[in-house]
Amino acid sequence: MNYTNITIAGSGVLGYQIAFQSAFHGFRVTVYDINDEVLDKAKAKFNLMSKAFKRDLNATQEQLEQTFENLNYTSDLKESVKDADLLIEAVPENPTIKIDFYEKLAKVAPKKTIFATNSSTLLPSQFADSTGRPSKFLALHFANDIWLHNTAEIMGHPATDPKVFEDVVAFAKAIGMLTLPLHKEQPGYILNSLLVPLLSAATDLLIKGVADPETIDKTWMKATGAPVGPFAILDIVGITTAYNINKMTAEKTEDPIKLETVAYLKENFIDKNKLGVSTGEGFYKY
Ligand code: NAD
Repeated sequence: MNYTNITIAGSGVLGYQIAFQSAFHGFRVTVYDINDEVLDKAKAKFNLMSKAFKRDLNATQEQLEQTFENLNYTSDLKESVKDADLLIEAVPENPTIKIDFYEKLAKVAPKKTIFATNSSTLLPSQFADSTGRPSKFLALHFANDIWLHNTAEIMGHPATDPKVFEDVVAFAKAIGMLTLPLHKEQPGYILNSLLVPLLSAATDLLIKGVADPETIDKTWMKATGAPVGPFAILDIVGITTAYNINKMTAEKTEDPIKLETVAYLKENFIDKNKLGVSTGEGFYKY
């Protein structure tokens, strides 16, 4: 891997974190977003990141100054990618927006640039054609609070060049990630393939009246040694996400337990603004 210049497209929740993390580890990073106003917001968030890196990682003033020196910003797509070895796409989780973005990017990016999507739920094969370079395209999926939860799931699609895959694994390592390579495409990668069924089984037990959240969490924690149980995890993820996932499943399957789960979450949590840790109360109080 001989990457130097990285472009991050989309400076929202995940984009600005990936940009700061990469710049902190010595890469030259260009942040691209749709206009300068949005980029100004990202700049303000970099100051918060700087505080978090000091507090959580004991980052020195010198390291942070160097990080800021490594960061550039532009709302001109062609300019943003002109020297890029790797572009990481973190635009909204909407297939139409992503396809439109890749089609525009394909027209202006140099041949050498590798494209990686940070999509949480969409598969790279869905966008491979729009990129115009399927062999140089794959998924590189980070977690929120990247500097603390430093996982990188790397997932190709059938046409991804194995050398490109290896280089992206090496890049992820170079920015301090625990690298988690997948051998094939899988919706939800590894983490959500494990987590979503666990959380779903927990709410099924609750809705069926089998046990209360505390007992379900205690069972999981004591028996497996896990530090938190599924309902505490739901509070961290946010009840809104749990509600949206259950709603999609309920609409697709018409499973009565899922329909009841949706109604239960809406009445007891969404309508009462008990959205989990972020609002101070969910299944537990914080
Ligand atoms: P977000 O809505 O916070 O940010 C999206 C950013 O993209 C915004 O700054 C927006 O202005 C910008 N944008 C919109 N259209 C654009 C375009 N055409 N070109 C360039 N930029 C554009 O979203 P997010 O939460 O950062 O999610 C981004 C991606 O990362 C999604 O694919 C999501 O699934 C994934 N992801 C999110 C999380 C999370 O916890 N939020 C975790 C892992 C992965």
